Amino acid sequence: MELSTDPITLDPLSHFLRNGVLVSVLRLDKIHPVISGNKWFKLKHYLAEAISKNKERLVTFGGAYSNHIIATAAIASMHGLKSTGVIRGDRPECLSLTLESAMSYGMELHFISRVNYARKKLPDTFGGKGDLIIPEGGYGEKGALGASSMQELVTDEFTHYCCAIGTGTMMAGLINSCKKGEKVVGLSVLKNEHSLQSAVSDLLKPNGVTQWQIIDEYHFGGYAKYTQELILFMNELYRQSGIPTDRVYTAKLFYGINDLIGRNYFPAGSRLLIIHSGGLQGNNSLKKGTLIF
Ligand SMILES: *Cc1c(COP(=O)(O)O)cnc(C)c1O
Repeated sequence: MELSTDPITLDPLSHFLRNGVLVSVLRLDKIHPVISGNKWFKLKHYLAEAISKNKERLVTFGGAYSNHIIATAAIASMHGLKSTGVIRGDRPECLSLTLESAMSYGMELHFISRVNYARKKLPDTFGGKGDLIIPEGGYGEKGALGASSMQELVTDEFTHYCCAIGTGTMMAGLINSCKKGEKVVGLSVLKNEHSLQSAVSDLLKPNGVTQWQIIDEYHFGGYAKYTQELILFMNELYRQSGIPTDRVYTAKLFYGINDLIGRNYFPAGSRLLIIHSGGLQGNNSLKKGTLIF
């Protein structure tokens, strides 16, 4: 049932080194081409629940480019479960590559209006005995608990853990798994998302010891928005380190951390671990030739 974590590596990122700061990267992007990055970790306890309670179908939510939707579709198909994706917005004439690929894993798509999506209003045909409903992005205690187990892959000592934030589930899991004195820095990829602070807090263990901070200066205009500067950065990062990033989450994370190092945000002597949370399939919707990887 477990996906093997063997392909995941902890790589030094030497060209980020300056101002006395050392940087390594946890390459969760290597775990699986489709169930990528943090998604396996966030989903594994939901999957275990579905299996132990003899559920037949996973039902979850997401947008047209959602890594969570495609990961859920692939996991369901690997375990003989049906899956349904409740997708935000009207059905477009032409489906995104992400949704096409989710369908190729047998996922049934159900489009609902943005208003009903925001209200989390599910059609009556969902939520029967055979369904396990997974919140958007795997948000919830189970998701955070799964994300905490990423810590088992960390074989070195670090002062700061740096991650991208969508729903905040991964960040909460990291905070819960850190030791006293370690800090977690999350970079939001959403613009003006003021609920993130409480979304993360709500998933934290009581009496936690870890300091954490959300930074929202590196969203590049908002979710899935990007600029030419970001694309140039992605290509340059790949040229120098061989690390591919996705334009929605990890490119903004690497860009932001590099910028923060330059601005002396991290004290000299800091040892950073950047969590490469995957998401590379999202680059498929870019025009061919935009990226060099
Ligand atoms: C889903 C996703 C995230 C966000 O994780 P949350 O737990 O929702 O904050 C970050 N990076 C990548 C690549 C993702 O696919």
